[in-house]
Amino acid sequence: ERAPVVTVDGPSGAGKGTISHLLAEKLGYKLLDSGAIYRVLALAAIHHNVELDNEESLTLLAAHLDVQFVTGSNGIKVVLEGEDVSVTIRSQECSSAASKVAAFPRVREALLRRQRAFAEAPGLIADGRDMGTVVFPTTPAKLFLTASAEERAQRRYNQLQDNGFDVKIDQLLSEIKERDDRDINRSVAPLVPAEDALIIDTTGIPIEDVLELAVAHIHKSF
Ligand code: C5P
Repeated sequence: ERAPVVTVDGPSGAGKGTISHLLAEKLGYKLLDSGAIYRVLALAAIHHNVELDNEESLTLLAAHLDVQFVTGSNGIKVVLEGEDVSVTIRSQECSSAASKVAAFPRVREALLRRQRAFAEAPGLIADGRDMGTVVFPTTPAKLFLTASAEERAQRRYNQLQDNGFDVKIDQLLSEIKERDDRDINRSVAPLVPAEDALIIDTTGIPIEDVLELAVAHIHKSF
């Protein structure tokens, strides 16, 4: 018997992280932040002086990546080789580097099994870009969140400010567009909704309403 999986895909700043956390809380499910894995891999590459265009070395690094997700009182801590990197991986440098390493097919392949292992009872909310298309394609409960680039940049801006990062909104907007471009146009696991995903445009929609739509879709799917 396999555990139920809800996939939540979409571009950066579409509200996936927030909705995924709320869904996990509401349903009592576990959470997979797959973007954090790519971010950690990018950080590990920077630490170990692995070039971000070296697929071979990045694949090896991915296969041996020592990353742990530790659930504590204030959320999930991301730990790389024993070090808490939860805040570090949210930097713009790591965002951009993550989307570069994520474009390599063999790197993605090396991380597949690790991601699928998160599907455990009582269930999983899987947040990412290819959760519904590649990692958990057979689950019936799929969501794809979008929002205008401007709104997504504004949300990222607020998040980064909250984490103490000093950023400029214009620069953020162009970086988001650049990263979306890379994610949408890559040859493997590009950012596209699964055919059977419910697409929700969250532009200007209060989070409670998005949550309600998501929950209704999940109940209908299982
Ligand atoms: O979601 P987040 O912004 O943390 O993801 C960082 C980067 O990791 C994305 O821009 C994307 O390139 C990559 N990613 C991916 N597949 C996923 C999750 C993230 O390629 N499932």
